[in-house]
Amino acid sequence: MMRFIHILLALLVVLSVPLAVSAQQDSLSVGTATAAAGQKAMGFLEVPAGLDAATQIPVVIVRGAKPGPTLALVSGAHGTEYASIIALEELIARLNPQQLSGTVILLPLVNIASFELKVPHVNPVDGKSMNRFYPGKSDGTQTERALFQITKQVVDRCDYLIDFHGGDLDESLRPYSYWVLIGNKKQDDISREMALAFGLDHIIISADRPKDLNATRYLDNTAAMRGKPSIAVEAGSAGTTEPEDVEALVRGSFGVMRYLKMLPGEARFVEKPVWIENVLDSPSPLAGIFYP
Ligand SMILES: [Zn+2]
Repeated sequence: MMRFIHILLALLVVLSVPLAVSAQQDSLSVGTATAAAGQKAMGFLEVPAGLDAATQIPVVIVRGAKPGPTLALVSGAHGTEYASIIALEELIARLNPQQLSGTVILLPLVNIASFELKVPHVNPVDGKSMNRFYPGKSDGTQTERALFQITKQVVDRCDYLIDFHGGDLDESLRPYSYWVLIGNKKQDDISREMALAFGLDHIIISADRPKDLNATRYLDNTAAMRGKPSIAVEAGSAGTTEPEDVEALVRGSFGVMRYLKMLPGEARFVEKPVWIENVLDSPSPLAGIFYP
């Protein structure tokens, strides 16, 4: 009997571990998506009609079985930067909530109209770039109302953020990331390590983003100015979906999750990145064909 009670107690201890852990992670709702601990859920950020039409931005929550930080991954502000959009689709499929500590909020396609109409750079509904009007406005045009929802529902809820881009239909680029500095050493060090853990070997030091909280313009800067370490990453260009570009973005995201202790395993930092401090525009003096 004593032995039976011992076994019973041992069983209770074993059983109580997962129960106690999941109890620390309540369900989370973002837009119409609600995920309990250990679940994935899909829904939409509803952007109500205003000066122009309403829209819906798809959102996926991967709620880890174990507690931990919240990481936001956002792509498709430019809906024709396909490699970054496909990378988030891959992550949605591959992230396993049972292995995850914390929560990943994914917005795989912010700019639906750009994607559907194959319009680069802007939201064709109002002609605005969906990465230049943060923190958004509740009474603005569709882009501003959409960014207002992203700021309130995603940026304000996350602890860390990565914004995904690539060369647009008319752009050529090699993969790189932006390290967003705001002048707070502790936060800036974390952002720097996120960029190194992401693993792209060219990193632009982005220290000149606007500091006005009401005109932060860019998503990475909007998160950083609200105290959330943040980077932007770029891979793919000119309408392509090369597997190595998509994989670099997926692998980098898993690397940052390991750095943040959201996934088991050691983070590995890119060893000798090329740090780029000055970015120069070099416009052509005449029209013609450019041979890089
Ligand atoms: Zn972009």
